[in-house]
Amino acid sequence: MRKNTISGLKSQLDSNSNVCIIGHKNPDGDALGSTLGLSLFLKELGISSQVIMPNGFPDFLKWLPGIDKVLCYDTDKEECEKQLNDSDVIFTLDFNHLGRTGDLGDFLVKLDTTFVMIDHHQEPADYASYMLSDTSIASTCELVYEYITTDYSEKRLTAEIASCLYTGIMTDTGSFRFPSTTSKTHRIIADLIDAGANNSQIHQNTFDNNAVSRLHLLGKALQNLKVLENLSTAYIYLSQEDLNQNGFKKGDTEGFVNYALSLKGIKFAVIFIEHKAENIIKISFRSIGNFDVNTFARTHYNGGGHKNAAGGKSDLDLNSTLVEFENILNTYKEELI
Ligand code: 5GP
Ligand code: MN
Repeated sequence: MRKNTISGLKSQLDSNSNVCIIGHKNPDGDALGSTLGLSLFLKELGISSQVIMPNGFPDFLKWLPGIDKVLCYDTDKEECEKQLNDSDVIFTLDFNHLGRTGDLGDFLVKLDTTFVMIDHHQEPADYASYMLSDTSIASTCELVYEYITTDYSEKRLTAEIASCLYTGIMTDTGSFRFPSTTSKTHRIIADLIDAGANNSQIHQNTFDNNAVSRLHLLGKALQNLKVLENLSTAYIYLSQEDLNQNGFKKGDTEGFVNYALSLKGIKFAVIFIEHKAENIIKISFRSIGNFDVNTFARTHYNGGGHKNAAGGKSDLDLNSTLVEFENILNTYKEELI
């Protein structure tokens, strides 16, 4: 599904504009890459902008250009609200409804301003006056690339902009291996490398930055791996105690679920992570092929995402969540075997 109503935006943006750019809660490489890339691009046009995130970001993305200027709503609420109140254009990137920004969403819905959505998640809400939404595209960074290179074709991308966009495409495509990766994705990547993105360095900055505690946490996750062979499913769980004992930091569990998915014959992989502070179990779903985890997450876990990658949460305790999950799963036998 594609919806493109962004073309009129250009005439609304000039050096007098007050712009804010927002990503989703627990921002990933695509949320940070797209917001920072767009902000740096607007700067080249002489338009200043403020990037605002609902909460903090993982260590492995802290090298991204411009990240030191990002404001977080959870720790700097007053300044964020001031900037948002003063803004006449708010870009919302890499999410499809304001609820994906947590508490910040409650503030955003009350604002009378121009919202712009650039996103690739299914079933976009309709709060935005301008939209570039395409669920067939692997990453929001590709859509930001499309937007800026179409509407401002005369403008060259700087190496910093290219690095931000490269990063989001890299992380959302699983380093260019998920089925959503197309020849067009690679053409955009080639263009970003030509513009100065240092591909090898970006991979190294992002993936070869582990603390030993993270590898120990991965070891624990692999011990807590359960395989349900007759349902082509594997899941991992991590309790709050597991996290505490292995020096957990935000972002440490990113990608763990893919180990479950890498098992031969597995079509559906899940990771359950206990967050005692919020009293929830955060869940990530991944699938290979036709099993639609977006629908699964929406139906049972108040979540959503894409067909092969989605997330949600459970309000039960960890044990009850796992028992309930196995019960639900049994009703999907026919789709999974
Ligand atoms: P992850 O499992 O990596 O956190 O997220 C996978 C995909 O699902 C991402 O596209 C993310 O935006 C989406 N997602 C994760 N958690 C939630 C959630 O609680 N609600 C919704 N609607 N989408 C989610
Ligand atoms: Mn994304």
